[in-house]
Amino acid sequence: MSFPPLVEPADELTIDEVRRYSRHLIIPDVGMAGQKRLKNAKVLVIGAGGLGSPALLYLAAAGVGTLGIAEFDEVDESNLQRQIIHGQSDVGKSKAVSAKESVAETNPLVNVVLHEGRLDNDNVMEIFRGYDLIVDGTDNFATRYMVNDAAYLLGIPYVWGSIYRFDGQASVFAPSLSADAPCYRCLYPEPPPPGMVPSCAEGGVLGVLCASIGSIQVNEAIKLLTGIGEPLVGKLMIYDALEMEYRKLKVRKDPNCALCGENATVSELIDYDAFCGAVSDEAAEAAVGSTISVKQLDEMLKEREAGERDFVLVDVREPNEYEINRIPGSVLIPKGEFLNGNALGELPSDKQIVLQCKSGVRSAECLAIVKGAGFSDAVHVGGGVVAWVSQIDPSQPVY
Ligand SMILES: [Zn+2]
Repeated sequence: MSFPPLVEPADELTIDEVRRYSRHLIIPDVGMAGQKRLKNAKVLVIGAGGLGSPALLYLAAAGVGTLGIAEFDEVDESNLQRQIIHGQSDVGKSKAVSAKESVAETNPLVNVVLHEGRLDNDNVMEIFRGYDLIVDGTDNFATRYMVNDAAYLLGIPYVWGSIYRFDGQASVFAPSLSADAPCYRCLYPEPPPPGMVPSCAEGGVLGVLCASIGSIQVNEAIKLLTGIGEPLVGKLMIYDALEMEYRKLKVRKDPNCALCGENATVSELIDYDAFCGAVSDEAAEAAVGSTISVKQLDEMLKEREAGERDFVLVDVREPNEYEINRIPGSVLIPKGEFLNGNALGELPSDKQIVLQCKSGVRSAECLAIVKGAGFSDAVHVGGGVVAWVSQIDPSQPVY
């Protein structure tokens, strides 16, 4: 299915612009009219991270007139493996500012608008309003559902992408363009249970995968803005980098969709953190009153060393994570061993169990299992290794 262009053409291109965009202008399908539409286009990119980095650079190079960048974070050294819009000298700098500088270097004719606050229910509608198209490069489910709902409520189409290890997905959600067009909730009505789908920070991502999926997103954005080709509306592109395989699946509009269905129950923004759940109810319940800080753990470890107390510190991450950094004195039993029950037999029944992971999510899930098995004085470490490294032992690397 093809759609009319999202944007009217600008009045004219300057001589500089004609020179700059000549390789576009000589493609008959794009031509003067298409390039003038790009010049008039206002595109918001959410996140200047893995997907946002290539997306912003190519949208800028393509001559999109106004680029919004919604990003609140700062550039970290661990970003540089894939977030190619930032460089070594940007470490510690605002990602939004760093991205703006790279865009200016790629194409100084682009007007860049920064939205540096964290995107939330209070500002998302105001920020989205006025953009022709949104490119979603977010990496968490709560923000994805918020982006979908806000875009739907405002009638703004958006290009979605997601990445994990060697796998990527992309689609265009644009119910405003067609009565048959699905939204993100039609594809994924419910977020996965917390802890089931690891984030890239927890599970990793091949850096170049970001370019594969980010470039698909820009490709679709250009088609939508200029009205050429057949965008991924009602289609899901699935990319497997190891098999080097692209598959395109049909995504139907769900008549029972909570947002765009016939009897929709969502008519305004909802509490997305609660909807997606930072941790499962069981884990949250287990963690109440049984969460210690890394400072408390540090004290406990010193007391253990002095022979004043005894406990077992269990790291529930994966072996490859344990190789990167660890809390001294911890033993490794990955979360899967708790899920299948094997770990319970390895735990001493006469010592307190202290669980810890990268950020405190996985350890809370394991805490629920351990407490359920009768280890009533078990605790977990809030903030995990990340907090340990930042507050107790900065000499260790983070990932
Ligand atoms: Zn829907």
